[in-house]
Amino acid sequence: MGNGSGVARSTPEGAPTRPGEVRVGVVTVAITRAPARFAPSVESCEVQYRITGTATAAQLEVRDRGGTLLARIAGIPFATGANTYTWDGRTNQGTARFATPHDSALALKIVTTPAAESAPRAVAIEVHSIEVADGRTGDNPERMLRPESGSDRDPRVELTATVKLKRSNNTGVVTQVAIGVDWVYEADAANCPRNKGGKDDTSRHFEAVSGFAMTGGNSYAANPTNTSGQSRVKFVASEVAGDKFRLVARVLQTPGTRTSAVLATQRGRTYEVWRQFTYSNFFQIPSGVSLATISTEANVQTVFTPAFTKFNRGAGAVRDVTNASLTGEYLAPLAAPRASELPAASRLKFTSDGEDTRTVTVRGKVRSTNAGGEVTGTSDDSETITLRGTTPATGTKYFQKLDRVTVSASNPARALNMEPADGPHAGNADHVMNITMFLGRGTSVPLDLVFEDESAVQTKAQAWVDRNWRGINSAVDSLRSATSSGYCMVGGRYLHPKHASGRTTRTTFYAGYSNITITAVSTDSSGTLLTAHPDAPWPVAFLGWASRNLIIILQGGASGQAQDVVRHEVAHASDHHPFGTGSGSSGASDHCAQTRCLMAQIEGRGQLCTTGTDHSRKRMMGWQLP
Ligand SMILES: [Zn+2]
Ligand SMILES: [Zn+2]
Repeated sequence: MGNGSGVARSTPEGAPTRPGEVRVGVVTVAITRAPARFAPSVESCEVQYRITGTATAAQLEVRDRGGTLLARIAGIPFATGANTYTWDGRTNQGTARFATPHDSALALKIVTTPAAESAPRAVAIEVHSIEVADGRTGDNPERMLRPESGSDRDPRVELTATVKLKRSNNTGVVTQVAIGVDWVYEADAANCPRNKGGKDDTSRHFEAVSGFAMTGGNSYAANPTNTSGQSRVKFVASEVAGDKFRLVARVLQTPGTRTSAVLATQRGRTYEVWRQFTYSNFFQIPSGVSLATISTEANVQTVFTPAFTKFNRGAGAVRDVTNASLTGEYLAPLAAPRASELPAASRLKFTSDGEDTRTVTVRGKVRSTNAGGEVTGTSDDSETITLRGTTPATGTKYFQKLDRVTVSASNPARALNMEPADGPHAGNADHVMNITMFLGRGTSVPLDLVFEDESAVQTKAQAWVDRNWRGINSAVDSLRSATSSGYCMVGGRYLHPKHASGRTTRTTFYAGYSNITITAVSTDSSGTLLTAHPDAPWPVAFLGWASRNLIIILQGGASGQAQDVVRHEVAHASDHHPFGTGSGSSGASDHCAQTRCLMAQIEGRGQLCTTGTDHSRKRMMGWQLP
């Protein structure tokens, strides 16, 4: 209905009433001008109307689009002829408020006394635009970073929708009008499903912001704009890395009736959930592997970016370890066996039964010592002793094992006795050697003699191994004591010389006992204790301690491998679904079965695997996979 067509006028008696005309007898009223739209609180609504005849009062009636009376304003001008009343847009039926876009289009009518009324005039209140803002700046404003700790670690973002109304001239303006804003989200189709740790429409997605009471909470949230034109809610994302959500603010025709027409809609940013974690304890052994270089965020992040996980290297995370016993190669030095851990050894004493000046040469495993008198091992050696007849002749070398005795010449008249000069050895009477060699049975006698029982030596060797393991553990403990909590990593190459494959790891302390075995502290992946000869390299199946304090030695020499080791160990410290099928997030169970994966137990390198539906990348992202 355009201006002019709403004019009501008196018509001749009996003439038909045309559409838009109201027959009022001697008084008629017509709205001659009103804005097509206005923005209450910023603009007012000037209504021009014309009265013919003599009215004694007039009032303005405003109804919403459904016909419900919003305002009845009495006492407006009622002069015969042209009148103007400027309505401020406030209602006075029920709670006073500004009329809203939800009421629109309004129907305005002038009613006079005596009874006459104008044709209704439509006046709109229209949404101009919605602006969605989150106040985020910086390089990656779309990232919703999951908190590193706490029981509720769903990341949140506070969103503000500013709704503008159209002024009468169609430009937008912020008003005080309470406009219902309906918030929804669009979840990416690839998001983690709820049964795998993600969210769905039945999950909490919205929380109220202080001062902005809200309805809904799961699949939607709704609240009206305040006197600054703003609606505010907090969006609660899933805590699964890589999940994406786009936020949408809408104004519905009927707030609360979510199937009603959409008056305006605005999409906000698409958010991406990122996990993050901080690794704070890198220890560098002097001249060891340079963790300071290898553990930089730039070097480590590469493998985590595809899993939407941010690696933070804590402030002051890299520390030098200034323990004099640390060499850069080893976390703990090799402690040589003590006397109580070594096989018995003895000098030899020869006595003839009469005049005898021949020489006797003994071959076997002979102890070697350093300048300080410490035993350094054994070697194949011999000693030649000149007989002194019936006076005992004692050698100076300590034999662990005797292989052969050779007498310089045959003399059938003499019987020769050989016995240990440093024995017998307590508890090992079986091996007290006291042999009488008769001439005529040959001048060279092969032997296979030791001074101590094999089982007793095995016990001693095990005591030596155990003591060295305690040394490794105390080195670990001293490093742990420098950290308050969390994982830590040590930039050496090997735990201990006995684990340095490719280095000189052989010893000769127990060379006379080729059949004894010691048990290494570590086990293979099935839990079986590993055994070896004590002089051989000691077996080690894994180099980590199964606890939050993980000590790792960077095996091998190639820097590329050290980089993989650091990434692998750092990945263990992230909050992830276990990479392996075992329980817990540490130790041997936390490894991927796929060999070409960073999280493979042996030689983990490269990237997190993506093959199959339960691959490591998704586990890193937090998917709860079988
Ligand atoms: Zn591992
Ligand atoms: Zn994997």
